[in-house]
Amino acid sequence: MTYEKKDVVIKIGTSVLTNSKGWVSPSRVEEIVRQVSENRKKIKSVIIVTSGAIATGLSRLKINATPSSLKLTMKQLCAAVGQPSLMAMYTKYFDRYGINVAQILLTEEDLANQYRYKNFWRTLSALIEHDVIPIINENDAISVKELIPINPYVPDSVRFGDNDRLSAIIASKIKADLLIMLTDVDGFMMPTKNGVKLVRELRGVNKKLLSYVGSPGVLGRGGMLSKLQAAAIASRAGVTTVIANGLKKNIITRILNGENVGTVIKPTHKRFKS
Ligand code: GLU
Repeated sequence: MTYEKKDVVIKIGTSVLTNSKGWVSPSRVEEIVRQVSENRKKIKSVIIVTSGAIATGLSRLKINATPSSLKLTMKQLCAAVGQPSLMAMYTKYFDRYGINVAQILLTEEDLANQYRYKNFWRTLSALIEHDVIPIINENDAISVKELIPINPYVPDSVRFGDNDRLSAIIASKIKADLLIMLTDVDGFMMPTKNGVKLVRELRGVNKKLLSYVGSPGVLGRGGMLSKLQAAAIASRAGVTTVIANGLKKNIITRILNGENVGTVIKPTHKRFKS
């Protein structure tokens, strides 16, 4: 099925935006923007959840390291340096298509606290109504999830810890039709006797599959456990998820056209649109 006139959330992983050095490559951002812009009129609304702030900070500060190898303070520093540059790239490339974008940075507490959540929601809705594309990232510079991994003041339903889960929570809350999660692998690859095989379709993601994927040796690249956990949240909210390779040519366009690419996780529950 095509996703014409649908509400879509697109999550862009760091690996989709970086080169072999791990630094953010403007041409990668440009390519994502081109595809979103060319499809903008076809779909009803689009929200981007982007990673890459830390990697952009690494590029600007010319630090040779991977985001995961950094100590917390360095991660926060790099994110604080990188986030405005990352947004500047999105803004510059979307400008070419006459599309306005907005930045929203979130922590778990913003979703857990009723007042802050309402404010977020109001702003998000207004942006969508005014045809502005919201670009969301976790507010890494002030997020404390690594200091308090399980914050008792944050209910499970809005605990995110990474952008995969954040994108699924947002897609569920806005009752999106589709969540696209772009990474640097073709989808969920299952080990087989002769190597690995791409799983084309799942209906929901059950606990058994999650514990299998989380077991040593199975996980593979692309952060698949957190992607499948996120897809489980989306599927319970009636949202279809596609996990696909963001480095492949025209991948967003192909997904929106209903082509059979990546791993599609179908919903297990109906979506109730108000
Ligand atoms: N928020 C981080 C960044 O922008 C990435 C975290 C994630 O991908 O989950 O670099």
